[in-house]
Amino acid sequence: MSVDTQKETLGFQAEIQQLLKLMIHSLYSNKEIFLRELISNASDAADKLRFEALTDNALYEGNSDLNIRISFDKDQRTVTVSDNGIGMSREEVIDHIGTIAKSGTRQFFESLTGDQAKDTRLIGQFGVGFYSAFIVADKVTLTTRRAGSGQGVRWESNGEGTYTLEAVDKPTRGTEVTLHLRPDEDEFLDNYRLRNIISKYSDHISLPIIMKASGKDADIDKGETVNRASALWVRPKKDITEQEYAEFYKHVSHDFEEPLAHIHTRVEGNQSYTTLFYVPKRAPFDLWDRDGRHGIKLYVRRVFIMDDAEQLMPNYLRFVRGVVDSDDLPLNVSREILQRNKSIDTIRAASVKKVLGVLEDLASNEPEKYAAFWKEFGRVMKEGPVEDLANRERIAKLLRFASTHTDTEAQDVALEHYVARMKTGQDKIYYVTADSFAAAKNSPHLEIFRKKGIEVLLLSDRVDEWLTSHLNDFAGKPLQSIAKGDLDLGELEDQAQKDELEKAAGELKDLTTRMKETLGDKVKEVRISQRLTRSPSCLVVEEHDMAVNFQKMLKAAGHAVPSTAPILEINPQHPLVVRLNNETDAQRIADWTHILFDQALLNEGGQLDDPTAFVQRLNDMLMLLTK
Ligand code: ADP
Repeated sequence: MSVDTQKETLGFQAEIQQLLKLMIHSLYSNKEIFLRELISNASDAADKLRFEALTDNALYEGNSDLNIRISFDKDQRTVTVSDNGIGMSREEVIDHIGTIAKSGTRQFFESLTGDQAKDTRLIGQFGVGFYSAFIVADKVTLTTRRAGSGQGVRWESNGEGTYTLEAVDKPTRGTEVTLHLRPDEDEFLDNYRLRNIISKYSDHISLPIIMKASGKDADIDKGETVNRASALWVRPKKDITEQEYAEFYKHVSHDFEEPLAHIHTRVEGNQSYTTLFYVPKRAPFDLWDRDGRHGIKLYVRRVFIMDDAEQLMPNYLRFVRGVVDSDDLPLNVSREILQRNKSIDTIRAASVKKVLGVLEDLASNEPEKYAAFWKEFGRVMKEGPVEDLANRERIAKLLRFASTHTDTEAQDVALEHYVARMKTGQDKIYYVTADSFAAAKNSPHLEIFRKKGIEVLLLSDRVDEWLTSHLNDFAGKPLQSIAKGDLDLGELEDQAQKDELEKAAGELKDLTTRMKETLGDKVKEVRISQRLTRSPSCLVVEEHDMAVNFQKMLKAAGHAVPSTAPILEINPQHPLVVRLNNETDAQRIADWTHILFDQALLNEGGQLDDPTAFVQRLNDMLMLLTK
């Protein structure tokens, strides 16, 4: 076939340059992984072909024997990985090899620190795949032809900003990647060395990996299958080593680190299927991206059906990676069918239980690992009680929070532990929510609780408001915000203090009425507080109103939220309040009232309507000191 072989030079997406540089430096000590990455891509390409061929058998072009071939040439100093998988069209090469098609790439690059150890970890999470070839090669040539298309394309680059593309004849479908090794990388021109790497990292690949050497010093002439070539999850658990599990994880997850835990289950019965799930050690960079990848690959009787099968795992478990292989689903199952499929519902429900089970095991038996897990994925798990009503109790037990028990930012308090420590007479689980840990810890609402030694959970993740609006109780104890409603300490209340407050409320009646008039619609009510010991004022909302913080968050996210005015509470014992009560100058009363309100709003992490006026009033008040 005659093809237009005109060569074109194109530029990489800016980030790729940066990625290549960083990767070569950070991954050099583990450079052999380039082979794993290329084999992993080749295996994915075969999976995709097998799946597309289900509906279009012609894509096999008469050869459905899928395999990966690895060869090296000592004379040319090249290593070549080729597959007869799906291949790529010209556009696909540009999209996949010249661009990083991952959402969140920019943010990823912004998160790099320049600290090599940290960046190495980050780059592992990002997954560098194909580009890892440049760790050992100073030129990479990729020749590919998409199954079913007549035209091949060659991509070539030295990894320095540009690549060339040209149309070529390629008789066999699939992709061939040739690495022109850097001067010091001759170690890879060795049959034994390559075989070792393959068995170390890629034994679990279910396609045959065939090795063949070429060139005049060829070690072997005939191809030889050098891996086990059977799907890992089909093998009995007892025959699979930890290392094999870990390598398979790296293949399915594109992660560079070992997983934190795995669970491998075979279910036989009405429905038969195998699941192999992994909990990663670290959150992927796109965990918070709504369009980020979901980690479950669906297979039907060993045939790959789809990546990112979001129907197989609820959103709050989106960090789980792995494989579901069903014996019963039809091979032509589509995403639409998955959404309304009973078998999928059953598999999903059982899968969730398995994953929760692994997490429970970690929490009880390996608390350090669980703490590491929580640090990475806690905020995602907190979506669980909202999303998954059926498992709410189990998930609630897995939750961890910061609390006044330790007063540290580490979220390590389980609700069970909180309940076990509750004071005699305490019937609620108290919490406070704020924008930051510091704001929660220093919240004026805590004052009375600290004084009485009652533990309060300190919640400062954005998702906490959402969580607490859905998780109303735990083990029969209601969760109660200490910034909502009338403070009801139940039996913990002290009658003498209550009487004193009532008396104060009477004495300050005129003042509170006046303050309400001054603040108008900004507040629902001004009243005497039971919560405060050190601060002069704080804001609270009614029991069923949205917390001030939460209103702000929803508004920032573009939701139309009905604004509900908060209640201003003042501390009758505070010298400022006492002084205000004796004040006669109307202007001064008004100014101080605004100051007390604005301060309380600032404490909530709120924004002042008129900061200049606040500063002005504060300065006027300070000026009094100089008089
Ligand atoms: P990842 O595999 O993590 O997506 P890579 O950089 O390794 O990232 O590959 C980018 C994309 O290029 C792949 O998602 C795939 O679409 C395409 N690709 C890479 N290698 C091959 C191959 N051997 N055959 C077909 N497509 C490939």
